Amino acid sequence: MIRKTLVSGVALLTLFALLGGCAKQQKLYQAQIYVFGTLATISIWGVDDAKAQAGVAAVSQDFDQMHHDWHAWHPGPLVDLNKAIAAGKPARVLPSLIPLIERSKELSDASEGLFNPAIGRLLKLWGFQSSERPHGPPPSRAAIAALVAQHPSMDDIRIKDGVLYSSNRAVQLDFGADAKGYAVDLALAHLRKLGIQNAIVNAGGGLGVIGSHGDRPWRVGIRHPQGKGIIAAVNVYNDENVHTSGNYERFRVYEGVHYAHILDPRTGWPVEGITSCTVIDRDGTLADAAATALVVAGVKEWQHIAKRMGVKYVMLVDEAGTVYMTPQMAARVEFNGEKPKIVISDLSTAH
Ligand code: ADP
Ligand code: MG
Repeated sequence: MIRKTLVSGVALLTLFALLGGCAKQQKLYQAQIYVFGTLATISIWGVDDAKAQAGVAAVSQDFDQMHHDWHAWHPGPLVDLNKAIAAGKPARVLPSLIPLIERSKELSDASEGLFNPAIGRLLKLWGFQSSERPHGPPPSRAAIAALVAQHPSMDDIRIKDGVLYSSNRAVQLDFGADAKGYAVDLALAHLRKLGIQNAIVNAGGGLGVIGSHGDRPWRVGIRHPQGKGIIAAVNVYNDENVHTSGNYERFRVYEGVHYAHILDPRTGWPVEGITSCTVIDRDGTLADAAATALVVAGVKEWQHIAKRMGVKYVMLVDEAGTVYMTPQMAARVEFNGEKPKIVISDLSTAH
């Protein structure tokens, strides 16, 4: 999530190496860094410390830059772009933003607009463009309806020769729902370029892996949506990403009602019913965008949207704790503790 405060650039918090076995390369190097306002853990297997340190430093620097370039409300290139859109003016786009915008356009389309990074105005109205948890009553129905009626959509924008044109001034870009996935994709590619073949970049709520942890696969936990530790564990293989979108971290509470930070762009109101969605895919940007879109899709529509987006490892948890999964996901996850009620849907029969 590209939000909250960035703590003094990128702070290297802990940096330690665990020596295992006698062979010099058989070891895990781990470092924690603050990125996108959250604590990220980078684990690197099988290289010497100097190389691992260089990898961590490179990723820290990349993330720092992305945080600045893609931030939806801190002064920077995306804020400037959004100002130009609101003013009805074409604007030159920072080159590093172009692939994120283009990719997000495709993913928004594939999600039938349920993942819609053009709804920045609605997110702001709800107080979700802030490093503070919003409080107080929800915005007025009229204000929400007025923004929804303007139908901000990724279809309204196009980029030609590096210049962005929007046919709708109500569009305000916010990549909070897929930028982390894209950032992890880029981080892993950078590590590979530095000669690191085995690593896991865990940006909190989303992670990606390359290679393995020595002779066993990387293994990660999927967080319990009600914040009760880990609900399940899963082995993750080379190039796979695991992204979870949930309402456990960011929401607004007013008079006992929880307002989720994921909005249904069709109504402008927070989603209800689903507390989290986890998607595994080789494309981290897709996994992140799909996890958000499927929370919006909910129990009735998730199969259809998952099929449209082309993801097959999907798990949703509703407010009652029931788990909805594809058979492919069911074959991989191992639940901790008591097994929840599970409903399996085969996407090949989805409409
Ligand atoms: P997290 O922020 O926990 O990584 P997500 O990937 O689901 O979780 O991103 C949620 C963020 O995406 C919200 O905080 C908000 O800024 C933005 N958002 C909310 N609803 C939508 C939506 N329907 N489409 C696109 N972005 C959304
Ligand atoms: Mg997401």
